[in-house]
Amino acid sequence: MSTGPDDRAVFVIEPGTVPPLSALRRWTGRVLPLLGADHLWAVRLVVTELATNAHEHGAGPVTITASADPVPCSVLLEVHDDGPERPVTGEPGAGTPHGRGLVLVRGLSRAWGVRGTGLGKTVWARIDCGSASIGRCPVRPEPIAMDPEPC
Ligand SMILES: [Zn+2]
Repeated sequence: MSTGPDDRAVFVIEPGTVPPLSALRRWTGRVLPLLGADHLWAVRLVVTELATNAHEHGAGPVTITASADPVPCSVLLEVHDDGPERPVTGEPGAGTPHGRGLVLVRGLSRAWGVRGTGLGKTVWARIDCGSASIGRCPVRPEPIAMDPEPC
């Protein structure tokens, strides 16, 4: 793992390892320090799903970037791997955890998609909180219902 500029850092998960998901969630808080608790909570759920999908179904190292745009408060996550398989969404409860995870991503993101040709691909998601400024990203009590793992 290495860090880049303050507004755009990189988290790398090496292939063949147990993905360090708790460290990944802590990292999102470090690189997105101005987010309110509920916005950060949504970002952490989405980045966990995208990173897990890429690690389990992709190839090579998984490279994750997170960047924030101030007005309106919005976070762009980008998860790259070297595999050829594109994500497949499924109906909740009908398919694999892979498909259910992407339903969660779709529900929490304003937009998401896949870009890239050939072997590598980048899955991206943009998560809004609706605040007019990142400096005023709402700080509300940390939701607890959907995240059983400590960050
Ligand atoms: Zn926000």
